[in-house]
Amino acid sequence: MNMKFWQTVGKHSNSVLSKTDPEIFSIVDRENLRKNNTIELIASANTVSPAVLEAMGSELINKVVEGYIGQRYFSGCTEIDKLENLAIHRAKQVFGATYANVQPHSCSQANQSVHLALMKPGDSFLGMDLMHGGHLSHGARTTLTAHHYTSLSYPVSREDEYLDYDQILKQAKEVRPKLIIAGASAYSRTIDFKRFRDIADQVGAFLLVDMAHIAGLVAAGLHPSPIAHAHIVTSSTQKTLRGPRGGIALMGKETANEYGHKLDSAIFPGLQGAAHMHTIAAKAVALEEALQPDFVVYQQNVLDNAKTLAEALMQSGFRLVSGGTDNHLMILDLRSQGMTGKEAEERLENVGITVNKNLIPYDLQKPWICSGIRIGTAAVTTRGFGPTEMHAIATMLDKILNKKLTAQIIQEVRHQVSIICRHHPLHIEEDIDNEHSYRA
Ligand SMILES: *Cc1c(COP(=O)(O)O)cnc(C)c1O
Repeated sequence: MNMKFWQTVGKHSNSVLSKTDPEIFSIVDRENLRKNNTIELIASANTVSPAVLEAMGSELINKVVEGYIGQRYFSGCTEIDKLENLAIHRAKQVFGATYANVQPHSCSQANQSVHLALMKPGDSFLGMDLMHGGHLSHGARTTLTAHHYTSLSYPVSREDEYLDYDQILKQAKEVRPKLIIAGASAYSRTIDFKRFRDIADQVGAFLLVDMAHIAGLVAAGLHPSPIAHAHIVTSSTQKTLRGPRGGIALMGKETANEYGHKLDSAIFPGLQGAAHMHTIAAKAVALEEALQPDFVVYQQNVLDNAKTLAEALMQSGFRLVSGGTDNHLMILDLRSQGMTGKEAEERLENVGITVNKNLIPYDLQKPWICSGIRIGTAAVTTRGFGPTEMHAIATMLDKILNKKLTAQIIQEVRHQVSIICRHHPLHIEEDIDNEHSYRA
């Protein structure tokens, strides 16, 4: 594996940027250092391979490309066409899809394009409530889709904090949405896509599954796939899938012929302009990585680590929303610790552990305060963390998220974080051409 590109980021030798723009170089350099010395528990975060990084920073950034293969608006696309073709082919292969569009700049934009393709302004859609784990792009009041369409939301059950499919069906029958969105940013349980499709069929709605968070698990066959159930599937490529920042849209054989062209037009020219070919190249590289056997091992480790961490945290007295996790993330309810999510996030950052404050179901706190935090294991598993580190993390969280925090405890935990990080470097910088220098 060629590590040269990575080398230029962390080291002054060989770096053009360090000479031409030392100000920016030093920010990149320090950010690299920060990430290396931090335990990253933000559930949507990950670290791409040097190969993905190299594709992202390649010459392809200089090619202007509009439209789709066979209908380009600029010439000189011979190589680019091969690239987009390959990316589409790999996306279909990874997810067993019949249609793939690899141009969305992000999953949020892929979601917007689904609205544009399937709905008329004013039509209503039903998505998971933000407070209950849904994503902003599923109808939050401040977003474009909520302005142009009527946005409605479903909660999780008050009793067990799981999705209550009977309740969602009842609500769907009352409001008759044109589109139902399944998928979440902060839901730790397996989602039953077949159930969602039954609900959509009963009310004559389209089903969009947004699998942004769990795409890597789906790719590895460790979460049920939505492809056969949803009319359209969207995803980010940067989360568990471990690719560049970007989006994809997919369809199974049921809908590909009927809606493929519509969705293509909604993405370009409906919402976006020129395609980002460097990002598409990086998506293709990440998708090829997702086809390798060791990707399944990685995703299984992500799940195992999440289970171990969840159990260790519950042993320490933390309450997890819904009582645990089936996937790569969990939500901690910190009310019994007498602490807000905001304070917890700040305390943890202060010792080198990054998380995000998160609303819990039926939260009474404001969204910028929150009663909980969200924790995920995708990024730390990429670094090679295993059960030992999960137990250590649970112990550190217990120490830091405790009323009786002292300066000495802060010192101890900071020290422990730095030791763990040193044992699991993000990228080993010596050994340039050694394949094993990247820890997957
Ligand atoms: C993160 C996330 C998105 C947004 O992805 P971007 O690529 O950052 O736009 C959309 N949907 C869900 C469910 C997410 O978790």
